[in-house]
Amino acid sequence: MKPSNAEVVARAERVIPGGVNSPVRAFGSVGGSQVIVDRAEGAYLFDLEGRRYIDYVQSYGASILGHAHPEVVAAITAAAPRGTSYGATTLGEVELAEMVCDRIPGLERLRLVSSGTEATMSALRLARGATGRDRIVMFAGNYHGHSDMLLAAGGSGMANQGISGSAGVTAGAVADTVVAPYNVVPTLDETVAAVIVEPVAANMAVVAAADGFLEGLRTECDRVGAVLIFDEVITGFRVGFAGASERFGVTPDLWTFGKIIGGGLPIGAFGGRADLLEHLAPLGPVYQAGTLSGNPLATAAGRKALSLLTPERFDELEATAVALAEGLVAASAHSPVPVSVLRVGTLVGLVFAPAAPTNLDEVKAAVDNGYYRSFFHSMLSEGIWLAPGPYEAMFPSLAHTAADLEATFAAAERSFARISVDEN
Ligand code: PMP
Repeated sequence: MKPSNAEVVARAERVIPGGVNSPVRAFGSVGGSQVIVDRAEGAYLFDLEGRRYIDYVQSYGASILGHAHPEVVAAITAAAPRGTSYGATTLGEVELAEMVCDRIPGLERLRLVSSGTEATMSALRLARGATGRDRIVMFAGNYHGHSDMLLAAGGSGMANQGISGSAGVTAGAVADTVVAPYNVVPTLDETVAAVIVEPVAANMAVVAAADGFLEGLRTECDRVGAVLIFDEVITGFRVGFAGASERFGVTPDLWTFGKIIGGGLPIGAFGGRADLLEHLAPLGPVYQAGTLSGNPLATAAGRKALSLLTPERFDELEATAVALAEGLVAASAHSPVPVSVLRVGTLVGLVFAPAAPTNLDEVKAAVDNGYYRSFFHSMLSEGIWLAPGPYEAMFPSLAHTAADLEATFAAAERSFARISVDEN
C-alpha cells in the first residue's frame, strides 16, 4: 500500500527544504499542499493515491513527446547496461551534437552540460572571455537559471544594475549585470560583453518578442561588438524544428539549450559560432567542465527525442497549441473576470487581464489579482495539472489528444465560472 500524498509531503518537509527540490514546485503562490507524483505516461500524471491528471507542465517543457514515450524509454533502457557515465567521449554525444548543429543554421559547435543553468552560466563566461568585457545585459522577467550573476533583481521601467535578486548573491556578483525592460532595445556601449534574451519570454506567462525587438538586439550587438545569446532552454526544439532563431529569422552568436535535447533526462548545452567556441578549454583560455557532461543516458534519450521531432510533428504540436488556446478562449467566454490566453507558436499561457502583457510590469499587474490561485485549485480538483504559479507557461505535448483538450475546456469553463472575487 502506497503512502498518501499528505504522508509523503510531511516526510518531504522533514528532509528536503520546503519539501521540494526546486521552489517552483511548492504551492507557495497558490496555497494548499503539493501533490506527490507516482508516475506519468503520455499526457498524464498519476499521483500516489491513483488520481489521474492531464498534465500541462510536462517537466516544464522537457517532455515534448509526452511522458515515458516508448521509444525514448527503449533508448534509455538500451543505453543503461552499457554504463551510465565514463568520463570519456562517446559516439552518442558526438551524434547529438551533430544533430543540433545540422538543424540550426549558424550553430557550428556545441558543448554539452547537465542543466540549463550551467548552459547560460558557461555561455556568458565564454562571451566575457572572448570579448574581454565584463558587463552583461538581461531582461526583466526572463529567467536563465540560478547562477549568481543572473539572479539580479528585475528593474521595473528603468534598467538597473547591480541589485541582487536573492539572499546569498553578493552585490559584487551582479555588479556587471544590467537588467533592462523586455521588448525595448537597450542602447549598448563597448563595455557590454553579451546580451542574453529569451526569444519568447516563457517565464513570465508567455510574452511574445515585439516586432523588431530581436532584430534590434542583433543590430545593437553588432554595432558595439557584443555577443548576442538566445536562451533557447525552453524555445529550442519547442517553437519549431530549429527553434526560435529560425522561426523568427534572427541568428544569435550563441545559443543555450536544455530540457528537450535530453529527452527528459538532465542535460543542457551551449553552442554557436566556431570562432567563439574556440575560446573554450582545452582550445582556449575560457575554462568550463563537467563530470557528467555528455552523459550517455541523457544523450541517448535526447537523440531519440530529436529524431522523432520532425517538421510534421511540429505542425501537429502547433495545431494542438492553437486548439488549446482557442478552446480556453471559448471556455472563458462567461468568466466573471477578464482572461487573456497567450500563444506564441507551440507555447500557451493564460493571465487574468484584459490584454496580452508585453513586459514584466504588465505581467505582474495581471497576476497580482490572485485569480490564478482559485483557477489552479479548481482545475487540479478537475484533474487538470497546471503549474502551481501564475508566471509559468503551459506546455502542450505531442501526446495530448483532442479528447484531452475537450476535457480541459470543460474543466476550464467550470473553473472560470467558479472564480469569485470573495475568494481572493
Ligand atoms: N533558461 C530558461 C529560459 C529556463 O526556462 C530555465 C529553466 N526553466 C533555465 C534557463 C534553467 O534551466 P535549469 O532549470 O535546467 O537549470
